[in-house]
Amino acid sequence: MPGDRPWKRRRERGESRPDKEAACPFCRLRLERPRPVEGTRRSGFLGGACACGAVFLFDESGGHGGEAIVEVMLAACGDDWDYAWSLHPEVDYRMLTLSYDPQAHRIAEPGDQYEPTGKLYFFKHLKGPDPAD
Ligand SMILES: [Zn+2]
Repeated sequence: MPGDRPWKRRRERGESRPDKEAACPFCRLRLERPRPVEGTRRSGFLGGACACGAVFLFDESGGHGGEAIVEVMLAACGDDWDYAWSLHPEVDYRMLTLSYDPQAHRIAEPGDQYEPTGKLYFFKHLKGPDPAD
């Protein structure tokens, strides 16, 4: 039942946002705030990388999904277009998306009722380091 969600109980106590510090969806390590990322200068996306190898980009408007997905793949694949397109989802890599509030540095996960407009796109190789390196 929607009314039973924990966020709503928090809201009734005067907190309007879920208390989920931005964290990597793969390993749960705390994320640094998005910043300019090597390999994404064409598009100007902000992003970063996690110690577990996941790479992420931030789409502030939430409306550049396709472009952000291409950019995060290229950023994670050393800007090697052919290599990026040779990968198979759920075999070679996994992508996850989280809603993100850059002011609060908080995330919302699927199912949360509070959803910031911005999106974080995460990419992680499932087979270890890029063999092209
Ligand atoms: Zn991680």
